[in-house]
Amino acid sequence: MNQAGGGATGYAVEARGVAKRFGRITALRSVDLDVPRGGVTALFGHNGAGKTTFLRIAAGLMRPTSGELKIAGLDAHKEAAAIRGHLGVVSHELFLYGDLSAMENLRFYGRLYQVDDLEARCEEVLTRVDLIHRANSRARHFSRGMAQRLAIARAFLHRPDILLLDEPYTGLDQRSVATLNELIEGFREAHHTVLLTTHDHHLGFTMATDIAILRRGEVIHHTPAAALSREEFDALYEESLQ
Ligand code: ATP
Repeated sequence: MNQAGGGATGYAVEARGVAKRFGRITALRSVDLDVPRGGVTALFGHNGAGKTTFLRIAAGLMRPTSGELKIAGLDAHKEAAAIRGHLGVVSHELFLYGDLSAMENLRFYGRLYQVDDLEARCEEVLTRVDLIHRANSRARHFSRGMAQRLAIARAFLHRPDILLLDEPYTGLDQRSVATLNELIEGFREAHHTVLLTTHDHHLGFTMATDIAILRRGEVIHHTPAAALSREEFDALYEESLQ
């Protein structure tokens, strides 16, 4: 299993002045955000606030226009290869191969990440997300929620210590939401780190140990969840939508 690696700080993700422009559109202005290790940080914000852009940059799927980012104490750009094993990512694009079965998808990624005991581990994660009975079905025949569950299984297959989850609850039924929440809890209990985005502010608030709110490409609030009552959080959330 990966240890919460590198760096002396207690942060899994450290962003300093991270900006991203797409032509004339500024998606991120200057994001400073420290994500504590061993917690669940929920990133909230209105449509277009920059949540997905920030997660994509943290996941190494996109370069920032400027600014610095460390993951597990490692420079996101210069040490990208070393960071890979630390990170499990669920993004909007599920990155599944439709012609491959659930099991084959996991095997493929497992080989890339040199996962020990690959067959047993694939079966274990498919069981965790309730897909073991569909292990041999092609991913293209999965419903949206099933594909999402397979993408979640793939994200933690290689035993990462940091999970980046962009709208992970999308398409999940109640039972699958509960399964995902158990996974997130288990991750936190193992002192690993989760950074997630969600528009479900009640669910997000319930799961989070830390809350960050983005508004027009800037972090306008960042606080431990325990410092806020639900009413106070609701008020901050509403304010961020203005
Ligand atoms: P949502 O809640 O709708 O998912 P978000 O907070 O995740 O929104 P982003 O997807 O990060 O927001 O988008 C932030 C801004 O950057 C938006 O104005 C969006 O149109 C723009 N943007 C994002 N990706 C691109 C791209 N590839 N090209 C051009 N503009 C982009």
